[in-house]
Amino acid sequence: MATTGPEIAQERRIVTEIPGPKSRALQERRLKAVAQGVGSSLPVYVERAGGGIVEDVDGNALIDFGAGIAVTNVGNANPLVVARAQEQLAKFTHTCFMVNPYEAYVDVCEALNRITPGDHEKRSILLNSGAEAVENAVKIARNATGRQAVVVFDHAYHGRTNLTMALTAKNMPYKQGFGPFAGEVYRMPMAYPFRWPTGAEECGPQAAAQAIEQITKQIGAENVAAVLIEPIQGEGGFIEPGAGFLPALVEFCRENGIVFIADEVQTGFARTGDMFACDHEGIVPDLITTAKGIAGGLPLAAVTGRAELMDAVHGGGLGGTYGGNPAACAAALAALETIESEKLVERARAIGETMLSRLRALAERYDIIGDVRGRGAMIAIELVAGAGDKTPNTAALAEIVRYCHSQGLVLLTAGTYGNVIRMLPPLVIGDDLLNEGLDILAEAFARL
Ligand SMILES: *Cc1c(COP(=O)(O)O)cnc(C)c1O
Repeated sequence: MATTGPEIAQERRIVTEIPGPKSRALQERRLKAVAQGVGSSLPVYVERAGGGIVEDVDGNALIDFGAGIAVTNVGNANPLVVARAQEQLAKFTHTCFMVNPYEAYVDVCEALNRITPGDHEKRSILLNSGAEAVENAVKIARNATGRQAVVVFDHAYHGRTNLTMALTAKNMPYKQGFGPFAGEVYRMPMAYPFRWPTGAEECGPQAAAQAIEQITKQIGAENVAAVLIEPIQGEGGFIEPGAGFLPALVEFCRENGIVFIADEVQTGFARTGDMFACDHEGIVPDLITTAKGIAGGLPLAAVTGRAELMDAVHGGGLGGTYGGNPAACAAALAALETIESEKLVERARAIGETMLSRLRALAERYDIIGDVRGRGAMIAIELVAGAGDKTPNTAALAEIVRYCHSQGLVLLTAGTYGNVIRMLPPLVIGDDLLNEGLDILAEAFARL
């Protein structure tokens, strides 16, 4: 077995109904202890996980098409990640980098500066969550430009803190009742090929022209600190912007002194079949935010960007007590080493080819599959009423997800209209489990 291979059997095993009796008992305790605002897509309580398997407290082994929302790219409890984090934990657990620094923090920043798009001089800062990274990127862009306006897009998701709620598009459940929201945030149309009125071909250039026109007329380019976008939207439903959209925005930003921020919290670290989704169209962002896939499951996030922007902020202006925790840094270095040594970028591409070809074949048979999209191991299907009718089909979605869950396939949903099934398997999942998961999904359609 490879040193980074999973330690639990890579086989689906269903021994109780899902969720089983132990999970249901825990769920009862939970409802009396945990605030109900925190949901769980599948309340199956976890005992162990690794490779493409999540094992629950009842002894069921589920196929993992979620990776903890694109986090455990290198596999859950990846042995190298665990070993390095344990080694670090035994030495010291925390000093606060702002009090006494340590080498692992510097190592992670060097690694991020090396692997993120562009070969310009870069700096990084480490934080705890994706939302915190996005907040810091906006702070840096505003400070460096002396401007205030931030441009975001329809269907965007950037987090749940006050500023990132403002940056996020969807009201329910993320914003409802949580206002007032931060100001100077402007939302533009997104290049959403499947729903673009004049068709997918024209989507990229037309959407870019619209966005640029609105920015110019409604805000004034000289007032814009940053344009912030996910290069493939995550929660929004894996919307891959029409070709040419991102390059046109980058060009507009360059011409107008606007900081282009790529939020790669979900798309980063080999997930899309490139190290970063920006690499696909050769986009070089001024700032890039990362989190989820960075450290094999330990909480860590970062902003990486042009040295002159990052260093524009005065000393003490950035930081946080826990940002760049030493165990999380050790885990990140192990995860990055694994991505490179196990060639997970290539693996993500192969996963994508398998998924896309099988899902496109399904789409030929079932006209409620309106769109199959995504790149690498970040693939979604959008469910609609039928051929020629793009009305979101949330009823079919609920039925399909319910069936897949009952068969032990962990599947997530997404989308502004709540009609997208998203698949984010760990990149170390084997072909057998990948195909078995897709078989279950095919059965779900056949039974509808
Ligand atoms: C998940 C996500 C965030 C927020 O990250 P948290 O770690 O949950 O705060 C921000 N941006 C994108 C694109 C995300 O997918």
